[in-house]
Amino acid sequence: MSFTVEERGNPNSLSYRLFFKNAEGKYISPFHDIPMYADESQNIFHVVVEVPRWTNAKMEIATKDLLNPIKQDVKKGKLRYVANVFPHKGYIWNYGAIPQTWEDPAHKDGDTGCCGDNDPIDVCEIGSKVCSRGEVMKVKVLGILAMIDEGETDWKVIAINVEDPEASKFNNISDVQRLKPGYLEATVDWFRRYKVPDGKPENRFAFNDEFKDKDFAIETIKSTHNFWKDLISQKTKSGELNCKNTCVSAGDSPYCCSVDEAKTAVGETHCYVVVFIYS
Ligand SMILES: [Mg+2]
Repeated sequence: MSFTVEERGNPNSLSYRLFFKNAEGKYISPFHDIPMYADESQNIFHVVVEVPRWTNAKMEIATKDLLNPIKQDVKKGKLRYVANVFPHKGYIWNYGAIPQTWEDPAHKDGDTGCCGDNDPIDVCEIGSKVCSRGEVMKVKVLGILAMIDEGETDWKVIAINVEDPEASKFNNISDVQRLKPGYLEATVDWFRRYKVPDGKPENRFAFNDEFKDKDFAIETIKSTHNFWKDLISQKTKSGELNCKNTCVSAGDSPYCCSVDEAKTAVGETHCYVVVFIYS
């Protein structure tokens, strides 16, 4: 299964959008139309890369926009960039989300005591490659961190690209501890402090700041997939989320739309052209 991306608008501007297409060249939603599993029998998941390692622009799947392109988060009319929290530079992993998952804001998690953050589940990919924005990779899940961000549960899955040259050595969270010493500690430190330069409090974590293992992580991902299934089949209210999709079968989703409708939606996204006039 392969996917491509198409840029609209100008990078580093409010107009920038990254739309997704499938192998047949049809526009799709990266939130709803990319299958969660790359290989269910092997527990291999798809991840949509939103923020490549070492970069700062807070790019994310626009869950409230038609076809959910990737766009940069905006706060008070300004594009959002995460600060470099010493000694880190930008995001310290390839950061993204698992498609077809959703942290239901109406569901209170038994372990964190907090409701979901209304987004697909987040992933920190620890392989050696610096990925591209919009890349769809296949990952092995290794563990999970239960972050609590201003009273919301915001799980962070730790995973490795199956194509990483060292992927075979990584099978659980203990392998990360052993083979990449300091990386998990840096991960907790990063998430604890990354919003402090923007005047926000430090984030907290459940389980005494400790990572849970692979099995726990997979169970958590599966539960967010079930929340997504209820969302896409309209068993749960979608609120402001845009659930239009082109691949979930119409029987399973009342939000399924035609290829033409999707094409029109992208076509209506403006392309801004900057014209310099010299005199
Ligand atoms: Mg999240």
